[in-house]
Amino acid sequence: MRTTVAVYDTKPYDRESLSRVAGAEAIDWRFLDFRLGPETAHAAHGAQAVCVFVNDDAGREVLRELAGLGVRLLALRCTGFNRVDVATARELGLPVTRVPNYSPYSVAEHTVALILALNRKLHRAFGRVRELNFSLAGLEGFDLHGKTAGVIGTGRIGRIVAEILRGFGMRVLGYDASPDPQWAARHGVTYTDPPTLARESDVVTLHVPLTTETRYVVRQETLELMKPGAILVNVSRGPLIDTTALIGALKSRRLGGVALDVYEEEEGVFFEDLSGQVLEDDVLARLLTFPNVLVTAHQAFLTREALNDIASTTVENVRRLTAGEPFLEGTVL
Ligand code: NAD
Repeated sequence: MRTTVAVYDTKPYDRESLSRVAGAEAIDWRFLDFRLGPETAHAAHGAQAVCVFVNDDAGREVLRELAGLGVRLLALRCTGFNRVDVATARELGLPVTRVPNYSPYSVAEHTVALILALNRKLHRAFGRVRELNFSLAGLEGFDLHGKTAGVIGTGRIGRIVAEILRGFGMRVLGYDASPDPQWAARHGVTYTDPPTLARESDVVTLHVPLTTETRYVVRQETLELMKPGAILVNVSRGPLIDTTALIGALKSRRLGGVALDVYEEEEGVFFEDLSGQVLEDDVLARLLTFPNVLVTAHQAFLTREALNDIASTTVENVRRLTAGEPFLEGTVL
């Protein structure tokens, strides 16, 4: 028996990775280039499974419609599930799976790439050299060696970041709601409380999921505690940072720089080619004017290995749905 999967918000790399993994040939793929939401849920008509990404809306209304259409699996091709109404899915008996275990190195290495690029001002140097401006004025950075990094969230990604930064010779402070003292001792990481981490770190990087407790984990008070000249990095979820407060800290010249792979209002902007169009988001427009702000559009996961892991997990869960077998352990929400 063949299963139809409606894949929302499909990009070329999704189509390619989902189609090439083993088992993909047994699935009838319906690749849709728009996101899931109340206006588009009907496009899953006739599909047994729906596959979505980070910015698809799987709220109550949408889930009810999908269940009504006979959809029997919502398969997230990402880790974070903050846009899924899990309680409603349970109520409806609609299983939701995610991909908790794709290469954490993809995101950790992008984090470090952002730290290095922002600190050494590679984003500015690149543009300058292409204009034949070989001046170094204003491109000064600092040695990471001997400085302090604060890692908020020492889960799968945060601990790899911490280990890489230890390799640079940084002192690493960690904060986590469920600390792992054995891991910390093994890697020379010191757990501390968030205010101490903010006060003492030259680089602060966020690796907690978005929850009601972590929303605006970086806000006015946090930014005021941070060392003057410190770098802030967010590759996790946009609403971990109060962007209005962040702009204030940048305007006051207190922050050394900010690197973001995620943004509070990224939906409808990130992942899209809006070149040649008018950017409606004034906050993002302001952020992009700072020379010490480096933004990538939610690309931290985008390595061959991570895409392959995501596709394999998704295809295997669809196979299990078709075969009536339990879904992969640890993937069900
Ligand atoms: P994980 O679950 O392995 O680790 C998260 C850590 O945060 C855990 O150790 C947990 O104890 C801690 N935590 C949870 N709530 C907390 C709180 N209130 N205070 C302090 N600590 C808390 O997750 P992970 O795989 O390391 O991923 C982290 C986040 O990275 C994801 O939730 C996702 O939002 C983001 N992410 C981004 C991308 C991207 O492409 N930019 C890709 C994958 C994941």
